[in-house]
Amino acid sequence: MSNAATEAEPAVSAAFVEKRPLERYVAPAKPSLVGYSRARLAESLGGIGVPERQQRMRVQQIWHWLYVRGAQNFDEMTTLSKELRATLAQHFTLARPDIAAEQISVDGTRKWLLRLPGEAGDRPHEVECVYIPEADRGTLCISSQVGCTLTCTFCHTGTQRLVRNLTAEEIAGQVVLARDRLNDWTRADDEPLRNSDAQAAEGDAAKGERRRLVSNVVMMGMGEPLYNFDAVRDGLGVVADGEGLSLSKRRITLSTSGVVPNIARAGHEIGVMLAVSLHAVTDELRNELVPLNRKYPLVELLDACRNYPGLSNARRVTFEYVMLKGINDSLADARALVRLIKGIPAKINLIPFNPWPGSRYECSDWAQIEKFSEIVFDAGYASPVRTPRGRDILAACGQLKSASEKLSARERLALRAMAMTD
Ligand code: SAH
Ligand code: SF4
Repeated sequence: MSNAATEAEPAVSAAFVEKRPLERYVAPAKPSLVGYSRARLAESLGGIGVPERQQRMRVQQIWHWLYVRGAQNFDEMTTLSKELRATLAQHFTLARPDIAAEQISVDGTRKWLLRLPGEAGDRPHEVECVYIPEADRGTLCISSQVGCTLTCTFCHTGTQRLVRNLTAEEIAGQVVLARDRLNDWTRADDEPLRNSDAQAAEGDAAKGERRRLVSNVVMMGMGEPLYNFDAVRDGLGVVADGEGLSLSKRRITLSTSGVVPNIARAGHEIGVMLAVSLHAVTDELRNELVPLNRKYPLVELLDACRNYPGLSNARRVTFEYVMLKGINDSLADARALVRLIKGIPAKINLIPFNPWPGSRYECSDWAQIEKFSEIVFDAGYASPVRTPRGRDILAACGQLKSASEKLSARERLALRAMAMTD
């Protein structure tokens, strides 16, 4: 009996790979304050001799400079004394993640290749961060890990090793960096920029005010965010802080491949919108496409979605479904999909597969995607295929991998999928 059990196990784990990080983050001797939470800032101020009774006020002031005004150097922080500014500059920097390359395409999509420090100091790592402007919003796609813990078979990142988790500062730092590059900070002579909810309520051209360029964030770049829970929670906490970067939690979406035990936690402790990479309607196929399914099968995953804290018709979960030719794209699959998620306030985001060198799948034919989406639409879910010509299809950026080539038209289309989440 016990023999059979031990024999059965390796067969499963051989096919299922949950990678361990190869490296840890090593903080530089003079760290950057960018991405710090209020608590961490207070602690750091304590460390350089700011008395406890002053810390709250100083944190408030620095917070404003960091996350409303985008200060890049301590001298700009004119509400602080010269002495404090000098002491801060002695111990800290305001460095952002390094940009190794920046690509701007004709439609305004921008891709930054970020260089993050490696454990050995001389071996930096790269992750990508992408900005996708649209008529009514600007979506920033950010990464949570260098590489990924998991091994989804259709995903380029899945083929990489998991180098390390990003820190909370590196996660929030991606938003800071995008605001820098887009000149999206509140200027001294500005009225406060309207926050993203006001923007949504008032519509586009409201009163000629300047709009936030980064209005939405999706955690759909490299990595599985729920395997880097604490840093993602803390980093997004900084991004959502209403007196700082100020992105409403309704405009932040976290995409997971289905780390079931952390889904409820994400709802309670992070409170952002949830997207789930479903991709298959049977355990048999999902085990192959998303090997994590062997650990957390469909019934458990769907249960976690159904019980996601705060779920309602106004706050739906997005199910992502990558269209793989001949694999998961039959019309029977489409019907099974709508049956499977019945009763869950949901949106469905069909993602045309974006091939990569060596990938074993093909993208479904366009006609098939349309038929599939019609079934989804008829079942009452907004059809993700938005233009009759069908060229404005939207895909995800899960295929991000650090290679610095020009943004292809296909990739641009692919990247636009993230804007589909709300
Ligand atoms: N790790 C998380 C978030 C990053 S991936 C997750 O898996 O949800 C963001 C989305 O892009 C996911 O739905 C992912 O399955 C999808 N994706 C990955 N590789 C893709 C590819 N080559 N083509 C299309 N979508 C892909
Ligand atoms: Fe990781 Fe998501 Fe890619 Fe799967 S799809 S390997 S979870 S990044």
